Amino acid sequence: MISVAIDGPAGAGKSTIARTAAMELDFIYVDTGALYRAVGLACIERGIQTEETAEVINVLDEISIELVFVKGEQRVLLDGKDVSDEIRTEKASMTASLVSRIPQVRSFLLELQRSFSKTNNVIMDGRDIGTVVLPDAQVKIFLTASPEARAKRRTLQLQEKGEKPDYNTILEDIKKRDYNDSHREIAPLKPAKDSVIIDTTQMSLQQSIEAVKDTIKRRIK
Ligand code: C5P
Repeated sequence: MISVAIDGPAGAGKSTIARTAAMELDFIYVDTGALYRAVGLACIERGIQTEETAEVINVLDEISIELVFVKGEQRVLLDGKDVSDEIRTEKASMTASLVSRIPQVRSFLLELQRSFSKTNNVIMDGRDIGTVVLPDAQVKIFLTASPEARAKRRTLQLQEKGEKPDYNTILEDIKKRDYNDSHREIAPLKPAKDSVIIDTTQMSLQQSIEAVKDTIKRRIK
């Protein structure tokens, strides 16, 4: 089985790029952020403040999270209910970032993530895939872009959806999330030693997809 780990900060285009590359190369695409978002959503639904670590840990005993693939597309189930759309809010995203600091949350999700790579060729994206989840992945990519470029892309995305986003608020959120993700004690966001770093600040989406595909093909040849 071949495993490709793609890590990087929020908004670097990981999911779009990884999904497209997986489709074209016939791999399964696993978006691990969705799992942290599902834990975040479970906390939001219960009105639990993320600073209450013990309460967040208790939630883990109450919930079940599954990933299923419908026509090759990942769906995330929280207690059997498909929450793939609900987890896409800014609130779920920020809550995910906060609960992901808790070691018990990370270990709760670890085996689930690893299990896919045992029976499938996977492209898995997240923050610690190359460093912790799949340290033996044949290909490791760290995909990044400047905070400003990422905020600009996110603003455009939301405008296309008919929303009226504020660029500066988005930029601040991105910086806050980068800080949380790279300063936590456990599994902080950082490139694996053997990763290829791809900076997409100056690249179009198509160029980024090509760069990722080329890197994968070169490594698994
Ligand atoms: O990738 P996405 O933005 O959906 O991830 C949401 C949050 O989940 C991130 O901000 C990060 O804190 C956390 N996460 C993580 N490890 C992963 C994937 C996501 O800590 N492998």
